[in-house]
Parts: sequence; structure tokens; C-alpha cells
Amino acid sequence: MNIHEYQAKELFQKFGVASPEGKVANTAEEAGAAAREIGGSGLVVKAQVHAGGRGKGTFTNGFKGGVHVIDDAEKAQEIAGQMLGQTLVTHQTGPEGKLVSKVLVAKAVDISNELYLAILFDRQTSRHAIIASTEGGMNIEEVAEKTPEKILKVFIHPGIGLQAYQCRKIAAALGLRGKLMGQTVKLVSALWNLYLKSDCSLVEVNPLAVTTDNQVVALDAKFNFDDNALYRQKDVVAMRDTSEEDPREVAASEFGLNYIGLDGNIACLVNGAGLAMSTMDIIKLHGGDPANFLDVGGGASKEQVASAFKIILGDPNVKGILVNIFGGIMDCNVIAEGIVAAVKEVGMSLPLVVRLEGNNVEAGKKTLAESGLAITSADGLTDAAEKVVAAVAAA
Ligand code: ADP
Ligand code: MG
Repeated sequence: MNIHEYQAKELFQKFGVASPEGKVANTAEEAGAAAREIGGSGLVVKAQVHAGGRGKGTFTNGFKGGVHVIDDAEKAQEIAGQMLGQTLVTHQTGPEGKLVSKVLVAKAVDISNELYLAILFDRQTSRHAIIASTEGGMNIEEVAEKTPEKILKVFIHPGIGLQAYQCRKIAAALGLRGKLMGQTVKLVSALWNLYLKSDCSLVEVNPLAVTTDNQVVALDAKFNFDDNALYRQKDVVAMRDTSEEDPREVAASEFGLNYIGLDGNIACLVNGAGLAMSTMDIIKLHGGDPANFLDVGGGASKEQVASAFKIILGDPNVKGILVNIFGGIMDCNVIAEGIVAAVKEVGMSLPLVVRLEGNNVEAGKKTLAESGLAITSADGLTDAAEKVVAAVAAA
């Protein structure tokens, strides 16, 4: 799960991570009012979308930049008016862009240096890691590729946590001494505390800015949360903005299904993540392209299967469906009944290839056979993939 920058700011405030004051606005008038409330002469208006690269982005109406530093409230209102209701395209949104329905109005700071700071979970070492670099405001992947020596990685011991010397090491690597070192140590520990307590899997501050009046502040924030821990993060869940997510994935999560939308045209309905991965692979091997990853899990109910099938049928890119079930824990007949229920409700004219094997398979096959649906049965993975790829090519 992700959140917006204005929500990240709320978390920063709660955990004592230094960041310029800001307010969210839904309309140009609200942005003007927010700007007057914040006051001062330097302000910034920032489009709120779940994607980075906003500063260098362009709106589909030609307006340039999703981040504007401006002088006064009047200008803040005008810029907000240009952004709201428009679609912003950045290198992270894809060519279709993202609709801007909120802007953040914040105090602008005089930047003397832009740095990079992130905390994330490092799978290689099974530890949380802090990444710091003097190359702020840039794409960190590019820095890692071209000048890896400019990136410091500090690993956090699971038993003893982040140590003060590690924070000092980070500050030193960023070239921050004296008063700035003290501020950095405080900011890094506060950020670590926030990361840990909120079950984050990524917090990225790019840029972490040093101001001309010698302050270290977080100017941008990207958050990822561990979905498996959301049950104990009610405040975080309340920040979810489903309008930023793939609607197919939102529907799937409501029914407890593991679903990821993809670009291909062959939908897969599978039980078990491993089988789902191999089903996608074998479709690809036979010249097809999967439209999704969908694992209904080991103990799916008829209703869950029906919902999964409806999500598949609601995707206009889908030109064929492959159901691949190994009934180990799963009862094949539950899958069959779910499919029949979904098709009865929403109708279907797509080729459907079904491979059922295992627990209660005869009952499952009987349910499908008696349903009157045009189903192609398959034996084994290769046969199933060949049949569905051929059916889609012929359609
Ligand atoms: P994105 O990464 O999506 O482009 P950022 O929040 O990083 O958005 O903003 C882009 C750039 O705008 C920053 O690198 C920084 O130079 C400038 N900027 C952002 N917030 C402020 C601020 N509060 N005051 C001054 N400059 C800012
Ligand atoms: Mg940024």
C-alpha cells in the first residue's frame, strides 16, 4: 500500500521528522486559503499522485511541472487551478498519467543541497537497510548504476536496532557536520522509528534538503507499507486512496484474493502462488501473454471464486481464460461451482480452458459439463497452455 505526500507529512509530524509545514487542498480556493494560512513569501504547490518524478512531469493539457515554487497565495491558487482535475504524466505514471484531485501547499525552503535518504527492507541480507547518498533529487537507480561509490548502505541489526554511531556515519557520508550532524542523527532516528512502528517496507526521502539557513528537512516522501501488517495499522489503512490503485486489484483485495493486473490478454485463475507463477510462465512459453496473476488460495469459497471470475470478465483486455486448479486442499467442485455462478450472473463469450486435477475432480468436471458452458478441458499444463493460446489466436 502507498500513501500521498500530504499524508506522509502527517506521519513525519507525528514521529518528529523535520519537514516544511503543509496543507492539502481539493480546490483552487482551498489552495489559496491554505497558502494564506501558511503565510510567508516562499510557497510550493505539489500535485498529489502516487508517483514520483512530478517536478519534471507534464500535464496532458501541456502545463509543465507537478511541483511549482511560487511567491504568494494568489499564485498558489492559480497554479492549483492549473493542476487540479488534470492528468499528470511522469516517468513513473506510464503514458496514461494520473489524475490530480488534490494538491499539497507547503512552505518553500531555500535549498543549498539536495541529498538522498531511504530505509527499506533488504532481502539479500534479511535486514532493514538505510541508504544515503549525496546525489539527491536524482533517480537513485541511475546513481547506483553510474556512481555506486556515492551510495552508503547501513544495515540494521534485528536484535539491537539502529545505533547512534550508524546515524553519525550516515551524516558524515552526506558531508553534514557540526549542528547539521546533530539534526541528521535526530532525523534519521525519527525516520527509523516511524518506519518500524508503522510497518513500512520503504520510506524514501528524495530530496532530503539542507537549507541555506542550516536546517536538514525532508522535502519529499514515498512510503510503501507491508500489506501483511495492515491488520494492525488502522491509521495507515485509513489513508488508503483506492482511486490511485488498479480497480481490478481493489476489487480483488475486497474478496481476499491475490491479484495483480498485467498487460496480456489471457486471464489465469489458479490456486497457489507457485502454480500461478508456473501457469503464467507456460502461457508465455507457448507464445501467449498473461492478463493477470490470480491466486484464489487454498481455501477459497464459491463466492470468492465467482468474484475472481467476475474481475477477469470485467477486464476488456481479456480474450481467453485459463483455469488451472490442482485440488490439494482445494475442492475442485468449489471452483467449478464458482465459475458457473459467475458466468450465469455476468455472461461470457470468451474461450475458456479448464484443467482440473485432484480433490473431488470428478464432481467438478460434472458440474462444468452439466452447466452448458462452452469449455475446453485440458490435461496437464502444456496441453492447457497450448489450447488457450490457440483459442485466443483463433478468436
Ligand atoms: P518529485 O520527486 O515527484 O519530482 P519532489 O517533492 O521531490 O517531487 O519535488 C521536486 C523538486 O522540487 C525537489 O527536488 C526540490 O528541488 C523542489 N521542492 C520540493 N518541495 C520543496 C519545498 N518545500 N521547498 C523548496 N523546494 C521544493
Ligand atoms: Mg522527489
